[in-house]
Amino acid sequence: MDQAAAVRAEIRQWIREHWDPGLALIEWRSALADSGWACPAWPVTCCGRALPGDLASEAAAELAAAGVPGTPDGVGMALVAPVLLEHGNADLNARFIRPTVTGEITWTQLFSEPGAGSDLAGLSTRAQSDGDGWVVTGQKVWSTGAATADFGLLLARTDLDVPKHQGITAFVLPMRQPGVTVRPLRQMNGHSSFNEVFFDGAWVDQVIGAPGGGWAVALTTLAHERRLAASRPAPVPAAVSGRAWREAIAERTAVAEPHKWYPQRAGRPDLVIPQAVSRGVAEDLVLRQEIARLQETTRSARWTAERAAAARAAGRKAGPEGSIGKLASSEIARQSARLHGRIAGASGMLAGPDAPADGVIAEILVSVPGISIAGGTDEIQHTIIGERILGLPREPDLSKEVPFRDIPK
Ligand SMILES: Cc1cc2nc3c(=O)[nH]c(=O)nc-3n(C[C@H](O)[C@H](O)[C@H](O)COP(=O)(O)OP(=O)(O)OC[C@H]3O[C@@H](n4cnc5c(N)ncnc54)[C@H](O)[C@@H]3O)c2cc1C
Repeated sequence: MDQAAAVRAEIRQWIREHWDPGLALIEWRSALADSGWACPAWPVTCCGRALPGDLASEAAAELAAAGVPGTPDGVGMALVAPVLLEHGNADLNARFIRPTVTGEITWTQLFSEPGAGSDLAGLSTRAQSDGDGWVVTGQKVWSTGAATADFGLLLARTDLDVPKHQGITAFVLPMRQPGVTVRPLRQMNGHSSFNEVFFDGAWVDQVIGAPGGGWAVALTTLAHERRLAASRPAPVPAAVSGRAWREAIAERTAVAEPHKWYPQRAGRPDLVIPQAVSRGVAEDLVLRQEIARLQETTRSARWTAERAAAARAAGRKAGPEGSIGKLASSEIARQSARLHGRIAGASGMLAGPDAPADGVIAEILVSVPGISIAGGTDEIQHTIIGERILGLPREPDLSKEVPFRDIPK
């Protein structure tokens, strides 16, 4: 038996011995974490088995095929845990990775500020040492899911006297404490996914990496986030029953709440052909050309994503190639929205159940702009590709050289 088949056989055997649909979700996930099958590529001390990428992918595929709940969706598993594995120390990882894997704690990303989005390194939320920990003052914005999260992955300025990239520190911030106020925002598509988060003397003592080393943590997070922008949650298998699945579906629904409109944000290319057919315009020659162009973009982006996934499975770190996938997602969303607008005509502006596709077309039209902003705008991805992939000269930024205190605000 080759190694991949042996791994598949071992996890199948383990599931046969341990899966019981009547378990509470936390009991099942705890067993997964203890066995290391929860995250097979991660270290043994962090709910994993330290398997090489290709074998870990085999194990993950077998777990998904077995029709049992896996690890939680969301920012915790997709961004925070990988960042802790790369930058956290043993204490931090022992405290936070396991409850993230079991779903006992949830996270939000506290990066963007009113004056620092694309220029994230210009952030001005302050964290000042008080001897035992750090006192945080300032404001974040766009913080998805902050209204319900237990912890935040926070970037704050800890040194004003060094250039902007060097004076930032990454922290784990407990969200439920005096000094943290979360105010939900309402978007033009009617959803309320984002929040303003205000810090007025909030306290934090968990530093990720070294004080002043927050920029490296930010870069790792953003590389994972670009991949996340193009990914989708795993489907729930049909006809599941039992307590563990009931709790997993409730958890998934809650985690997905701020992201309910994300399929529309991606433009719903899957709806373009059915809409053209159902509205009787599929024979329109100009429209057909545009639909064919959308198919080309969608398929080539899928192949690029598959190549990147294969490279990751072979053990390469997330890198600037994520920028290409993210740009492709923006382009596909815009092409799809243009086509939906042409197919539906003025009725595409109608919302509600009597509107085309139950109002989904209108939601697509007002949600698509979000995909080319989240996780770094298209213009910023172009800069990353130009500088890090094509080797073009770096964008001039004189504020990189001077102490943050002296940058005109
Ligand atoms: C759906 C969604 C979810 C998000 N979730 C989170 C979250 O959970 N946590 C979080 O911290 N943030 C989150 N964000 C915020 C996101 O990271 C920022 O919106 C993004 O980085 C852009 O920053 P900004 O909005 O301040 O725009 P700005 O930086 O002000 O940019 C405005 C315009 O100027 C252009 N521009 C700026 N600088 C340059 C340059 N150097 N070269 C060329 N053009 C430039 C931009 O491309 C853009 O078109 C989310 C955003 C969205 C849309």
